[in-house]
Amino acid sequence: MSITIDQINKNFGGFQALKNVSLDIPEGQLTALLGPSGSGKTTLLRIIAGLESSDSGRILFGGDDVSQLHVRDRNIGFVFQHYALFRHLTVAENIAFGLESLPKKQRPSKQEIRQRVAKLLEMIQLPELAKRYPAQLSGGQKQRVALARALATQPRILLLDEPFGALDAKVRKDLRRWLRALHDEYHFTSIFVTHDQEEALELSDQVVVMSQGQVEQVNSPTGLYARPESRFVFDFLGHVN
Ligand code: ADP
Repeated sequence: MSITIDQINKNFGGFQALKNVSLDIPEGQLTALLGPSGSGKTTLLRIIAGLESSDSGRILFGGDDVSQLHVRDRNIGFVFQHYALFRHLTVAENIAFGLESLPKKQRPSKQEIRQRVAKLLEMIQLPELAKRYPAQLSGGQKQRVALARALATQPRILLLDEPFGALDAKVRKDLRRWLRALHDEYHFTSIFVTHDQEEALELSDQVVVMSQGQVEQVNSPTGLYARPESRFVFDFLGHVN
């Protein structure tokens, strides 16, 4: 499902965090939102999700205006940097949570939920951990559970906010490869926030570079260019060349 961001503005107490941001996110692509801290990436992601409202502008999913829809009704999966798993629920219960919380009409039967959770546990290759609690998992395992939970309701859109930021280099690399494989199999539309240039380059189909609340460029990972005034991307290209 494509995402259209149409002239979004957001002000926090006089500070303009997003300045007339317009952007097209094509269906089925993995898009990186790349930019230095404070450039407005998380705010934009939260507005797309419906976790934050904008002052003006519209968000469209597949051409439909969802600006007024509650986060619950947008059918998106969300993955946060710090996993946000429920500590008092097991891995299986965490994954089932989104399904159990669906309105009665949309909620699968108990048996279907069990089957779907089992399938997701296979998908993240952690079936043996179904009965563990989050405190008993490594960071990489927690984030795999968070991904399975986000995908449980079969969303067409997956939003990830610095998903691998809290993990060490080796685990990050594995999880990137693994997210890419999941994406290529399920073809959801994804946006992930990162300030890690290498991650954006390796994982995405399209990179959106943000700076001071504005979109500086939209490009393929190989087409990123540096403008002399953009120290961020300039440093980045210097780093990869
Ligand atoms: P990024 O994700 O690129 O680091 P953010 O979207 O988190 O940037 O923040 C953009 C700017 O908006 C920052 O200057 C931040 O301090 C400000 N900001 C974000 N959320 C709030 C808030 N709830 N209240 C006040 N200022 C905020």
